[in-house]
Amino acid sequence: MKSHNRPIGIFDLTSECPLRCKHCYFYTNVSQIPSDFNDEEFLKRLRQTRDKYGIRSAFWIGGEPLLKPDLLQRAMALFPRNAVATSGALPIPNDLDAGLLVSIEGPKEVHDMLRGEGAFDTAMQHIKSLSEKSFALATTFTSISVDYIDALPDLVNSTRALGVLIGFHVGRPDDPLRIDNHRRNRAVDQLLQIHQDYPNVLLHSRAAIELFRPRYSREVSKKCIYRDVAIAFDVHFKVKEPCTFAENASCDACGCPIVIAHASWRNQDDKSKGLLRALFPKRKDYLITASV
Ligand code: SF4
Ligand code: SF4
Repeated sequence: MKSHNRPIGIFDLTSECPLRCKHCYFYTNVSQIPSDFNDEEFLKRLRQTRDKYGIRSAFWIGGEPLLKPDLLQRAMALFPRNAVATSGALPIPNDLDAGLLVSIEGPKEVHDMLRGEGAFDTAMQHIKSLSEKSFALATTFTSISVDYIDALPDLVNSTRALGVLIGFHVGRPDDPLRIDNHRRNRAVDQLLQIHQDYPNVLLHSRAAIELFRPRYSREVSKKCIYRDVAIAFDVHFKVKEPCTFAENASCDACGCPIVIAHASWRNQDDKSKGLLRALFPKRKDYLITASV
């Protein structure tokens, strides 16, 4: 593999977002967030970046990528595999041909506490238009939401989601939303119990869930996907160092769900390999659209 070859690209499609969530790492330093290019300029630079790094799988985040649905479709057509993360604040197309993650932080009161009044009902309304099991929920535990882990089975069942991709808030030691080690270990115990009682709720394998424990943080960081497999860009295609969390990166407590799954894959965990492949499904029409 060439040293600059990175098969997975994590892209900000836009710097805009209708929400201002308490746990957002994206808006911590607003003065440094570049404004969006026009669509043609964005796509031109996207092609150059794809070719420079050999990117085959694209993960679309933001800001809120569904603010620009047409640009999102054109951008995704340039890659064989895509995944999209949305807050559910805007209507969600049912035909994205990509792995789809809708962020739900817990029951209504917890979700609204983190994402703003009314955010839960709006997201649930938009989820209703999605086909059963065509998407997954994504939940990032913070010191506010971690006490509501037991709500996950009901949330998955009531939304008809495929399951939930869990993560822990990546925050520096002085971040009040970061979960202390003791509580994080207890949370992992609870998650393992849910994994046993409700086998179809959590998307991570048992081995991957174990890796969320603080004592494995060093191992996870050493196997971090951003060291040799993935690369993150802002809307101007500037590389974010060391990862998409930029200055908020906290490798001593990384709870990124994809980094954890990948570390588990590297430990010969085939279920984690399957999860990552499922997150980036192959586009049905890639050979047709790739030449556009
Ligand atoms: S939806 Fe995402 S990008 Fe928007 S404010 Fe919330 S965490 Fe930040
Ligand atoms: S904080 Fe960022 S660089 Fe550090 S282990 Fe997590 S994803 Fe990797």
